[in-house]
Amino acid sequence: MKYGRTYNFSAGPAMMPEPVLEEIAAEMMNYRGSGMCVMEMSHRSKVFQQIRDEAEADLRKLMGIPDNYKVLFIQGGGTVQFAMVAMNLMKNGLGCYVETGAWSKKAIAEAKKYGEVKIVASSADKNFSYIPDCSNLDIPENADYVYICENETINGTTYFQLPDTKGKVLVSDQSSMFLSRPCDVSKYGLIWGGVQKNVGPAGMAIVIIREDLIRDDLPKFVPTYMSYKTHADNDSLYNTPNCWAIYCCGKVFKYLLDNGGLEAMHQRNVEKAGILYDFLDQSKLFTGAVRKEDRSLMNVPFVTPSKEQDADVVAASKEAGFDNLKGHKSVGGLRASIYNAMPKEGVEALVEFLKKYEAEHA
Ligand SMILES: *Cc1c(COP(=O)(O)O)cnc(C)c1O
Repeated sequence: MKYGRTYNFSAGPAMMPEPVLEEIAAEMMNYRGSGMCVMEMSHRSKVFQQIRDEAEADLRKLMGIPDNYKVLFIQGGGTVQFAMVAMNLMKNGLGCYVETGAWSKKAIAEAKKYGEVKIVASSADKNFSYIPDCSNLDIPENADYVYICENETINGTTYFQLPDTKGKVLVSDQSSMFLSRPCDVSKYGLIWGGVQKNVGPAGMAIVIIREDLIRDDLPKFVPTYMSYKTHADNDSLYNTPNCWAIYCCGKVFKYLLDNGGLEAMHQRNVEKAGILYDFLDQSKLFTGAVRKEDRSLMNVPFVTPSKEQDADVVAASKEAGFDNLKGHKSVGGLRASIYNAMPKEGVEALVEFLKKYEAEHA
Protein backbone atom coordinates (compact mmCIF):
# COMPACT_ATOMS: atom_id res chain seq x y z
CA MET A 1 0.00 0.00 0.00
CA LYS A 2 1.17 3.51 -0.87
CA TYR A 3 1.75 6.32 1.68
CA GLY A 4 2.13 3.78 4.51
CA ARG A 5 -1.62 3.28 4.48
CA THR A 6 -3.14 0.29 6.21
CA TYR A 7 -5.80 -2.23 5.21
CA ASN A 8 -8.61 -0.70 7.23
CA PHE A 9 -11.49 -3.11 7.87
CA SER A 10 -13.60 -0.53 9.73
CA ALA A 11 -17.39 -0.71 9.41
CA GLY A 12 -17.46 3.06 8.92
CA PRO A 13 -16.09 5.59 8.36
CA ALA A 14 -14.21 3.30 6.03
CA MET A 15 -11.69 3.19 3.21
CA MET A 16 -12.15 5.40 0.17
CA PRO A 17 -10.65 4.69 -3.27
CA GLU A 18 -7.03 5.83 -3.32
CA PRO A 19 -7.27 7.62 -6.71
CA VAL A 20 -10.16 9.66 -5.28
CA LEU A 21 -8.15 10.69 -2.22
CA GLU A 22 -5.26 11.65 -4.49
CA GLU A 23 -7.50 13.84 -6.63
CA ILE A 24 -8.94 15.51 -3.54
CA ALA A 25 -5.41 16.15 -2.26
CA ALA A 26 -4.41 17.69 -5.59
CA GLU A 27 -7.41 20.04 -5.49
CA MET A 28 -7.09 20.89 -1.81
CA MET A 29 -5.46 24.32 -1.99
CA ASN A 30 -7.06 25.64 -5.17
CA TYR A 31 -10.05 23.87 -6.67
CA ARG A 32 -9.73 24.14 -10.45
CA GLY A 33 -8.62 27.77 -10.52
CA SER A 34 -11.32 28.98 -8.12
CA GLY A 35 -8.59 30.21 -5.77
CA MET A 36 -10.05 28.27 -2.85
CA CYS A 37 -10.61 24.87 -1.33
CA VAL A 38 -14.10 23.35 -1.62
CA MET A 39 -14.31 23.62 2.19
CA GLU A 40 -14.04 27.41 1.88
CA MET A 41 -16.54 27.84 -0.90
CA SER A 42 -19.99 29.41 -0.76
CA HIS A 43 -22.68 26.80 -1.26
CA ARG A 44 -24.46 29.39 -3.40
CA SER A 45 -21.51 29.87 -5.76
CA LYS A 46 -21.60 28.75 -9.39
CA VAL A 47 -18.60 26.53 -8.88
CA PHE A 48 -20.22 24.66 -6.00
CA GLN A 49 -23.55 24.45 -7.81
CA GLN A 50 -21.73 22.59 -10.57
CA ILE A 51 -20.16 20.19 -8.05
CA ARG A 52 -23.61 19.46 -6.60
CA ASP A 53 -25.35 19.10 -9.95
CA GLU A 54 -22.69 16.77 -11.34
CA ALA A 55 -22.82 14.64 -8.20
CA GLU A 56 -26.55 14.17 -8.59
CA ALA A 57 -26.34 13.54 -12.35
CA ASP A 58 -23.57 10.98 -11.90
CA LEU A 59 -25.46 9.17 -9.14
CA ARG A 60 -28.56 9.06 -11.36
CA LYS A 61 -26.50 7.56 -14.17
CA LEU A 62 -24.77 5.07 -11.87
CA MET A 63 -27.99 3.71 -10.33
CA GLY A 64 -30.33 4.34 -13.26
CA ILE A 65 -32.61 6.42 -11.06
CA PRO A 66 -35.96 7.05 -12.80
CA ASP A 67 -37.08 10.66 -13.39
CA ASN A 68 -39.93 10.43 -10.91
CA TYR A 69 -37.50 10.06 -8.01
CA LYS A 70 -35.75 12.91 -6.20
CA VAL A 71 -32.17 12.64 -4.96
CA LEU A 72 -31.59 14.46 -1.67
CA PHE A 73 -28.36 15.16 0.22
CA ILE A 74 -29.29 15.51 3.89
CA GLN A 75 -27.12 16.14 6.92
CA GLY A 76 -27.28 14.18 10.14
CA GLY A 77 -26.01 10.89 8.78
CA GLY A 78 -28.03 7.74 8.97
CA THR A 79 -29.62 8.16 12.38
CA VAL A 80 -31.63 11.22 11.36
CA GLN A 81 -33.29 9.12 8.64
CA PHE A 82 -34.79 6.78 11.24
CA ALA A 83 -36.92 9.75 12.36
CA MET A 84 -37.41 11.40 8.97
CA VAL A 85 -38.81 8.25 7.37
CA ALA A 86 -41.44 7.90 10.09
CA MET A 87 -42.25 11.62 10.30
CA ASN A 88 -42.70 11.96 6.56
CA LEU A 89 -44.23 8.67 5.50
CA MET A 90 -46.59 7.79 8.37
CA LYS A 91 -49.73 9.24 6.86
CA ASN A 92 -52.00 6.61 8.42
CA GLY A 93 -49.68 6.30 11.40
CA LEU A 94 -48.57 2.71 10.77
CA GLY A 95 -45.16 1.47 9.66
CA CYS A 96 -44.33 -2.22 9.14
CA TYR A 97 -40.75 -3.17 10.02
CA VAL A 98 -38.64 -6.26 9.44
CA GLU A 99 -36.39 -6.68 12.47
CA THR A 100 -33.01 -8.08 11.42
CA GLY A 101 -30.51 -6.55 13.82
CA ALA A 102 -29.05 -3.53 15.51
CA TRP A 103 -29.89 -0.97 12.83
CA SER A 104 -33.45 -2.07 12.17
CA LYS A 105 -34.03 -2.08 15.95
CA LYS A 106 -32.89 1.53 16.10
CA ALA A 107 -35.21 2.42 13.23
CA ILE A 108 -38.10 0.70 15.02
CA ALA A 109 -37.43 2.47 18.33
CA GLU A 110 -37.36 5.84 16.59
CA ALA A 111 -40.50 5.22 14.50
CA LYS A 112 -42.45 4.34 17.66
CA LYS A 113 -42.16 7.97 18.73
CA TYR A 114 -44.22 9.08 15.75
CA GLY A 115 -46.75 6.32 15.18
CA GLU A 116 -47.55 2.67 15.45
CA VAL A 117 -44.99 0.06 14.49
CA LYS A 118 -45.79 -3.50 13.49
CA ILE A 119 -42.89 -5.92 13.35
CA VAL A 120 -43.87 -8.18 10.45
CA ALA A 121 -40.86 -10.51 10.62
CA SER A 122 -37.86 -10.91 12.90
CA SER A 123 -34.67 -12.92 13.26
CA ALA A 124 -34.21 -12.03 16.94
CA ASP A 125 -34.64 -15.72 17.89
CA LYS A 126 -31.17 -16.55 16.53
CA ASN A 127 -29.28 -13.38 17.40
CA PHE A 128 -30.06 -11.89 13.98
CA SER A 129 -27.89 -14.39 12.14
CA TYR A 130 -30.27 -14.75 9.20
CA ILE A 131 -32.89 -12.89 7.10
CA PRO A 132 -36.42 -14.07 7.92
CA ASP A 133 -38.81 -15.31 5.24
CA CYS A 134 -40.52 -12.22 3.80
CA SER A 135 -42.51 -13.91 1.04
CA ASN A 136 -45.88 -13.77 2.80
CA LEU A 137 -45.86 -11.02 5.39
CA ASP A 138 -49.00 -10.06 7.27
CA ILE A 139 -49.26 -6.42 6.22
CA PRO A 140 -52.33 -4.48 7.34
CA GLU A 141 -54.34 -2.64 4.69
CA ASN A 142 -53.65 0.74 6.29
CA ALA A 143 -49.86 0.29 6.53
CA ASP A 144 -47.94 3.27 5.15
CA TYR A 145 -44.79 1.35 4.26
CA VAL A 146 -42.65 -1.73 4.82
CA TYR A 147 -39.18 -0.96 6.14
CA ILE A 148 -36.04 -3.06 5.85
CA CYS A 149 -32.40 -2.61 6.68
CA GLU A 150 -31.09 -4.20 3.49
CA ASN A 151 -27.61 -4.90 4.84
CA GLU A 152 -27.19 -5.19 8.60
CA THR A 153 -23.70 -3.79 9.17
CA ILE A 154 -23.23 -5.26 12.64
CA ASN A 155 -24.85 -8.64 12.14
CA GLY A 156 -23.52 -9.22 8.62
CA THR A 157 -26.73 -10.21 6.86
CA THR A 158 -28.13 -9.03 3.54
CA TYR A 159 -31.24 -9.57 1.44
CA PHE A 160 -30.77 -11.38 -1.85
CA GLN A 161 -34.50 -11.14 -2.47
CA LEU A 162 -36.68 -8.18 -1.51
CA PRO A 163 -39.78 -8.73 0.65
CA ASP A 164 -43.21 -9.02 -0.92
CA THR A 165 -44.74 -5.82 0.45
CA LYS A 166 -48.23 -6.66 -0.86
CA GLY A 167 -48.25 -3.47 -2.87
CA LYS A 168 -47.13 -1.22 -0.02
CA VAL A 169 -44.23 1.18 -0.33
CA LEU A 170 -40.82 -0.40 0.33
CA VAL A 171 -38.36 1.69 2.37
CA SER A 172 -34.77 0.51 2.58
CA ASP A 173 -31.76 1.49 4.65
CA GLN A 174 -28.89 0.72 2.27
CA SER A 175 -26.19 2.49 4.31
CA SER A 176 -23.66 -0.31 4.33
CA MET A 177 -24.34 -1.61 0.83
CA PHE A 178 -25.07 1.60 -1.09
CA LEU A 179 -23.55 1.31 -4.60
CA SER A 180 -22.12 -2.14 -3.89
CA ARG A 181 -24.31 -3.82 -6.49
CA PRO A 182 -26.89 -2.88 -9.14
CA CYS A 183 -30.20 -1.71 -7.68
CA ASP A 184 -33.60 -1.50 -9.37
CA VAL A 185 -34.73 1.77 -7.80
CA SER A 186 -38.27 1.42 -9.19
CA LYS A 187 -38.93 -1.41 -6.70
CA TYR A 188 -38.62 1.03 -3.80
CA GLY A 189 -40.53 4.03 -2.55
CA LEU A 190 -37.53 5.33 -0.65
CA ILE A 191 -33.90 4.28 -0.41
CA TRP A 192 -31.52 5.96 1.96
CA GLY A 193 -27.90 5.49 2.91
CA GLY A 194 -25.47 7.14 5.26
CA VAL A 195 -22.48 7.73 3.01
CA GLN A 196 -19.59 6.98 5.38
CA LYS A 197 -19.88 3.22 4.97
CA ASN A 198 -19.41 2.66 1.27
CA VAL A 199 -19.07 6.07 -0.35
CA GLY A 200 -17.51 9.09 1.33
CA PRO A 201 -16.94 11.05 4.55
CA ALA A 202 -19.35 10.95 7.52
CA GLY A 203 -22.18 13.36 8.23
CA MET A 204 -24.55 12.96 5.32
CA ALA A 205 -27.24 10.65 4.02
CA ILE A 206 -28.41 10.30 0.45
CA VAL A 207 -32.16 9.84 0.10
CA ILE A 208 -33.77 8.62 -3.10
CA ILE A 209 -37.51 9.18 -2.83
CA ARG A 210 -40.41 8.67 -5.22
CA GLU A 211 -41.98 12.06 -5.83
CA ASP A 212 -45.52 11.10 -4.84
CA LEU A 213 -44.28 10.29 -1.32
CA ILE A 214 -43.15 13.87 -0.73
CA ARG A 215 -45.91 15.51 1.31
CA ASP A 216 -46.85 19.07 2.12
CA ASP A 217 -49.41 18.11 4.76
CA LEU A 218 -47.00 17.05 7.48
CA PRO A 219 -47.91 17.39 11.15
CA LYS A 220 -46.91 20.78 12.59
CA PHE A 221 -44.35 19.28 14.96
CA VAL A 222 -42.11 18.20 12.08
CA PRO A 223 -39.14 20.59 11.98
CA THR A 224 -38.58 22.36 8.67
CA TYR A 225 -35.28 20.59 8.17
CA MET A 226 -36.86 17.17 8.75
CA SER A 227 -39.37 17.48 5.91
CA TYR A 228 -38.29 15.80 2.66
CA LYS A 229 -40.21 18.52 0.82
CA THR A 230 -37.87 21.19 2.19
CA HIS A 231 -34.91 19.45 0.58
CA ALA A 232 -36.72 18.43 -2.60
CA ASP A 233 -37.98 21.96 -3.27
CA ASN A 234 -34.52 23.45 -2.82
CA ASP A 235 -32.23 20.94 -4.56
CA SER A 236 -30.80 20.06 -1.12
CA LEU A 237 -29.66 23.68 -0.72
CA TYR A 238 -32.32 24.93 1.70
CA ASN A 239 -29.57 25.67 4.18
CA THR A 240 -25.81 25.12 4.01
CA PRO A 241 -25.42 21.48 3.08
CA ASN A 242 -22.48 19.21 3.85
CA CYS A 243 -20.56 20.65 0.89
CA TRP A 244 -17.46 18.62 1.59
CA ALA A 245 -19.31 15.30 1.67
CA ILE A 246 -21.20 16.14 -1.54
CA TYR A 247 -17.89 16.94 -3.24
CA CYS A 248 -16.15 13.76 -2.07
CA CYS A 249 -19.15 11.55 -2.89
CA GLY A 250 -19.29 13.11 -6.35
CA LYS A 251 -15.68 12.07 -6.91
CA VAL A 252 -16.52 8.51 -5.89
CA PHE A 253 -19.51 8.43 -8.27
CA LYS A 254 -17.22 9.44 -11.15
CA TYR A 255 -14.66 6.87 -10.08
CA LEU A 256 -17.30 4.13 -10.09
CA LEU A 257 -18.61 5.21 -13.50
CA ASP A 258 -15.05 5.15 -14.88
CA ASN A 259 -14.48 1.66 -13.47
CA GLY A 260 -17.37 -0.26 -14.93
CA GLY A 261 -20.27 0.94 -12.75
CA LEU A 262 -22.23 -1.12 -10.27
CA GLU A 263 -22.17 -4.38 -12.23
CA ALA A 264 -18.36 -4.38 -12.16
CA MET A 265 -18.37 -3.39 -8.48
CA HIS A 266 -20.71 -6.27 -7.73
CA GLN A 267 -18.46 -8.78 -9.49
CA ARG A 268 -15.44 -7.52 -7.57
CA ASN A 269 -17.38 -7.66 -4.30
CA VAL A 270 -18.58 -11.22 -4.93
CA GLU A 271 -15.02 -12.27 -5.65
CA LYS A 272 -13.59 -10.47 -2.60
CA ALA A 273 -16.19 -11.80 -0.17
CA GLY A 274 -15.79 -15.27 -1.70
CA ILE A 275 -12.11 -15.34 -0.79
CA LEU A 276 -12.92 -14.71 2.86
CA TYR A 277 -16.00 -16.95 3.07
CA ASP A 278 -14.21 -19.84 1.33
CA PHE A 279 -11.53 -19.63 3.96
CA LEU A 280 -14.02 -19.47 6.85
CA ASP A 281 -15.99 -22.43 5.46
CA GLN A 282 -13.00 -24.77 5.62
CA SER A 283 -11.36 -23.33 8.77
CA LYS A 284 -11.34 -25.38 11.97
CA LEU A 285 -10.70 -22.32 14.14
CA PHE A 286 -12.85 -19.55 12.64
CA THR A 287 -16.60 -19.77 12.06
CA GLY A 288 -18.81 -17.37 10.12
CA ALA A 289 -21.62 -15.93 12.26
CA VAL A 290 -24.34 -15.83 9.58
CA ARG A 291 -26.51 -18.37 7.73
CA LYS A 292 -24.89 -19.04 4.35
CA GLU A 293 -27.75 -17.84 2.12
CA ASP A 294 -27.92 -14.46 3.86
CA ARG A 295 -24.26 -13.54 4.15
CA SER A 296 -23.36 -9.94 3.45
CA LEU A 297 -20.80 -9.15 0.77
CA MET A 298 -19.79 -6.07 2.78
CA ASN A 299 -19.58 -7.00 6.46
CA VAL A 300 -18.24 -10.39 7.50
CA PRO A 301 -18.53 -11.29 11.20
CA PHE A 302 -16.74 -14.41 12.42
CA VAL A 303 -15.69 -15.99 15.72
CA THR A 304 -13.17 -18.35 17.29
CA PRO A 305 -14.24 -20.83 19.98
CA SER A 306 -13.60 -18.35 22.82
CA LYS A 307 -13.72 -14.65 23.69
CA GLU A 308 -10.10 -14.83 24.83
CA GLN A 309 -8.98 -16.17 21.50
CA ASP A 310 -11.09 -13.59 19.64
CA ALA A 311 -9.23 -10.87 21.52
CA ASP A 312 -5.89 -12.54 20.82
CA VAL A 313 -6.57 -12.64 17.06
CA VAL A 314 -7.61 -9.00 17.06
CA ALA A 315 -4.40 -8.01 18.86
CA ALA A 316 -2.27 -10.12 16.51
CA SER A 317 -4.03 -8.66 13.46
CA LYS A 318 -3.22 -5.17 14.64
CA GLU A 319 0.38 -6.19 15.10
CA ALA A 320 0.39 -7.53 11.54
CA GLY A 321 -0.79 -4.18 10.16
CA PHE A 322 -4.55 -4.67 9.82
CA ASP A 323 -6.96 -2.29 11.47
CA ASN A 324 -10.46 -2.35 12.98
CA LEU A 325 -11.15 -6.09 12.93
CA LYS A 326 -12.78 -6.24 16.35
CA GLY A 327 -16.41 -7.36 16.12
CA HIS A 328 -19.27 -5.24 17.47
CA LYS A 329 -19.94 -5.94 21.14
CA SER A 330 -23.43 -7.35 20.41
CA VAL A 331 -22.01 -10.11 18.19
CA GLY A 332 -18.46 -10.44 19.56
CA GLY A 333 -15.61 -12.04 17.68
CA LEU A 334 -14.23 -10.32 14.63
CA ARG A 335 -15.73 -8.42 11.74
CA ALA A 336 -14.10 -7.57 8.44
CA SER A 337 -15.87 -4.81 6.54
CA ILE A 338 -14.84 -5.12 2.91
CA TYR A 339 -16.58 -2.28 1.11
CA ASN A 340 -16.02 -1.24 -2.52
CA ALA A 341 -12.74 0.53 -1.72
CA MET A 342 -11.10 -2.43 0.05
CA PRO A 343 -8.71 -3.88 -2.54
CA LYS A 344 -8.80 -7.61 -3.27
CA GLU A 345 -5.18 -7.69 -2.08
CA GLY A 346 -6.38 -6.55 1.36
CA VAL A 347 -8.75 -9.50 1.66
CA GLU A 348 -6.10 -11.91 0.39
CA ALA A 349 -3.61 -10.56 2.90
CA LEU A 350 -6.14 -10.95 5.72
CA VAL A 351 -6.85 -14.57 4.74
CA GLU A 352 -3.10 -15.30 4.64
CA PHE A 353 -2.79 -13.84 8.11
CA LEU A 354 -5.72 -15.88 9.47
CA LYS A 355 -4.35 -19.07 7.89
CA LYS A 356 -1.00 -18.51 9.51
CA TYR A 357 -2.61 -17.76 12.86
CA GLU A 358 -4.66 -20.94 12.64
CA ALA A 359 -1.61 -23.07 11.76
CA GLU A 360 0.35 -21.61 14.68
CA HIS A 361 -2.51 -22.21 17.15
CA ALA A 362 -3.65 -25.66 16.02
C1 LIG B 1 -23.99 3.19 10.25
C2 LIG B 1 -25.38 2.86 9.95
C3 LIG B 1 -26.43 3.72 10.34
C4 LIG B 1 -26.23 4.99 11.13
O1 LIG B 1 -25.43 5.92 10.51
P1 LIG B 1 -24.94 7.25 11.29
O2 LIG B 1 -24.47 8.12 10.19
O3 LIG B 1 -23.85 6.83 12.23
O4 LIG B 1 -26.10 7.82 12.01
C5 LIG B 1 -27.71 3.34 9.99
N1 LIG B 1 -27.96 2.20 9.32
C6 LIG B 1 -26.97 1.35 8.95
C7 LIG B 1 -27.31 0.09 8.22
C8 LIG B 1 -25.65 1.66 9.26
O5 LIG B 1 -24.68 0.81 8.88
